Amino acid sequence: MTGLIALLAIAILALVIVLFNKKSCSNAVNSGFLNEDDDPKHVIGSNDPDPADPQTELPTEAPEATPDLPAVTDGPTATPPVITQPPASAAPGVQINDPGVPSVPQSPYPAIPYVVTTGSFADVKARLEQLKTLPKSATIVLLDVGHGGFDGGTVGIDTGVTEANINLEIARYVAQWLGSKGYYVFMTRTDDYAVGSTKNNDMKWRKQVMKLDIFDISISIHQNALASDRNVHGARIYCYKKGTAGEQFAKEMIAAISSEISTVKQNVYADNLMVVREPVCPAVLIECGFLSNHDEELLLQNPAYQRLLAKLIAQGAEKYLNK
Ligand SMILES: [Zn+2]
Repeated sequence: MTGLIALLAIAILALVIVLFNKKSCSNAVNSGFLNEDDDPKHVIGSNDPDPADPQTELPTEAPEATPDLPAVTDGPTATPPVITQPPASAAPGVQINDPGVPSVPQSPYPAIPYVVTTGSFADVKARLEQLKTLPKSATIVLLDVGHGGFDGGTVGIDTGVTEANINLEIARYVAQWLGSKGYYVFMTRTDDYAVGSTKNNDMKWRKQVMKLDIFDISISIHQNALASDRNVHGARIYCYKKGTAGEQFAKEMIAAISSEISTVKQNVYADNLMVVREPVCPAVLIECGFLSNHDEELLLQNPAYQRLLAKLIAQGAEKYLNK
């Protein structure tokens, strides 16, 4: 009898141990699933904080400084490969009339050219110091070229092109077009490098520049992506807040781009993004198109389309400045 009771006690103990273990396992599995389910739906580049990309819904304030990483040196200046053929099926409403690249006249201050589109980060900083010496009557455009270097930004799904490269190509053409109209242009970068040793430092430096009271307008160039819906396409123009000079600037930009590119969204987007919030002058963010859309990914790499977009962006700036 005693033996039977002992056996029963052992059996109960064994059952309790099995149940306890099972519960632990199931908890572990559940927590795994919960973690996966809790993951936000990813869009391209969402791992990469982008102060200008509204699709990524990231904090717009620069996070606290992190310890410096080894300094980023200027990378090789090889130009990225570009697809020179137009896409097989260009997005509807986009007919590319290549306007070419305009010539830029000599500035009344020959030591300070209207436009500089290549150079190291040291050259960029020297250029900024130079532009600070211009008289108030000079019109200076802040042309913020998104990403660069270790921060490639969004990546094209089908070709692997980086946003940083497309931003630079388009911005260089925009600078040429603005310079042809007699505006001084300051590009935040003029080749494939970051403007800080970390993403935070990169953003901090851009923010400092945007706070300078020497610019008449600010234009930030970025590319968009929405992997969850690859049909979404078209340029979008952002300002900081409705009812501001920035909104008026954005409206002029939309009108100018619409004159030859019908895929641009007709409404102004307002968002609390660093590149439109920080400049002390009227500022717009131009998300030129979606690298997650097959046709637009190819279109945005087409130099003729880049030049057309650049010409229209410069026209929008000119219209706003002349008001
Ligand atoms: Zn971006």
